Amino acid sequence: MRKSKNYKFWFATGSQSLYGDEALKEVALHTRIMVDGLNKSGILPFEVVWKPTLIDNASIRRTFHEANMDEECAGVITWMHTFSPAKSWILGLQEYRKPLLHLHTQFNKEIPYETIDMDFMNLNQSAHGDREYGHIVSRMGIERKIVVGYWEDQEVQERIADWMRTAIGIMESSHIRILRVGDNMRNVAVTEGDKVEAQIKFGWEIDAYNVTDIAEYVQQVSKGEVDALVEEYYNKYDIILDGRDSEEFRRHVAVQAQIELGFEKFLVEKDYHAIVTNFEMLSGLQQLPGHAIQRLMEKGYGFGAEGDWKTAAMVRLMKIMTQDIANKKGSSFMEDYTYHLTPGEEGILQAHMLEVCPSIADGPIGIRVCPLSMGNREDPARLVFTSKPGKAIATSLIDLGNRFRLIINEVECLPQNIPMPKLPVASAFWRPQPNLKTGAEAWILAGGAHHTAFSYDLKADQMGDWAAAMGIEAIYIDQDTSIRNLKKELLWNSVAYR
Ligand code: MN
Repeated sequence: MRKSKNYKFWFATGSQSLYGDEALKEVALHTRIMVDGLNKSGILPFEVVWKPTLIDNASIRRTFHEANMDEECAGVITWMHTFSPAKSWILGLQEYRKPLLHLHTQFNKEIPYETIDMDFMNLNQSAHGDREYGHIVSRMGIERKIVVGYWEDQEVQERIADWMRTAIGIMESSHIRILRVGDNMRNVAVTEGDKVEAQIKFGWEIDAYNVTDIAEYVQQVSKGEVDALVEEYYNKYDIILDGRDSEEFRRHVAVQAQIELGFEKFLVEKDYHAIVTNFEMLSGLQQLPGHAIQRLMEKGYGFGAEGDWKTAAMVRLMKIMTQDIANKKGSSFMEDYTYHLTPGEEGILQAHMLEVCPSIADGPIGIRVCPLSMGNREDPARLVFTSKPGKAIATSLIDLGNRFRLIINEVECLPQNIPMPKLPVASAFWRPQPNLKTGAEAWILAGGAHHTAFSYDLKADQMGDWAAAMGIEAIYIDQDTSIRNLKKELLWNSVAYR
């Protein structure tokens, strides 16, 4: 699986020559200490690179130009140590094309009441220097993230870390290539969309192939390769026969192993990072890819069922944005399936016909072979499990005809304590924020799909910031959502995003 580049972030400090060389030496010393401290914190997922203090038009323009050109630079962190007249930032900002963070901090944490004098004031004046800079960024309408607080505080560093992951998502979005195996499911609206506009807005390349093209790759996989992978499955997962003949069961599992290997070869050879399938279009395939797709998602590929390329790309985006996280809880394609409406216990059972990513599993993972209620292929093998409890987000990218909207719902995944022995698919159970009734009403009002890109490891703001960078509308559904306000927001946005 293709990994993103070895990205770095530049730290650019603003000042001016008015203060004299002694003061500028002090500024440079402070910023070196800060960059060093940030890198040693162990919290930031990517390296911060110190840059010489920016004091005039020429140095600012040159630095932003170099940041654009440097393939490993994923963004610039800006901070005004002292007062930096913001007209000198116009030219550089006009040319800059990468993610921008405004770190509104101060080298010194506290006011030294006993000793404070004008020299101290002059060397600790982010409070007004950053307002001058912030003004010009706002006036120029440039999208940026602002993080406020003392630079050594863990919470501040964690917010910088979150922004870095968003920045990677922004940088890598333009390289996402989506393989459509067949077309979208017949008559379905929400999985459709404008692929040209998606490439303009998000940079995604979305290509279709005949199912038979990829089926050929599956047929060419050798028996030896299939046997080895099946052996791996049998070692890794619980085998749940459900009374089926063990030889027949193994043959069904082998079909999915062959699909996994064939699909992966096709994806790697043609450099695609997300894939969609459609159970209506399976020419040349013995089973709907279930287990195979689950394994590919776990390896980092995006996926959308029934031709849903928007969700496939979003799942891939989430995989990219979380790839540095060591103990991640997982991200997956998901579908709202069945409600539990008992007061006090409300929630939505999440699943799909087959394709839920095992990265979100809580506890053991089993393989089952069961009939599919739709389509006309043989019973597919699939991985079955329940999912981790905890906070997460579910997102849906929809095409409204003239524009895209990203809907982001904070959800609480609840422990799945009651066994569902007859449910032959992986599942999660969550309660949307602020509660099931308002959450579901808001989701439907906003036009959200039944398919979602789901992650435990990303925050709502990170996805909203990504949407802002792409120039599209984001709707948050969370603790603060009220239907009255949401209706007004949707109405106002329909004018603003025209
Ligand atoms: Mn579906």
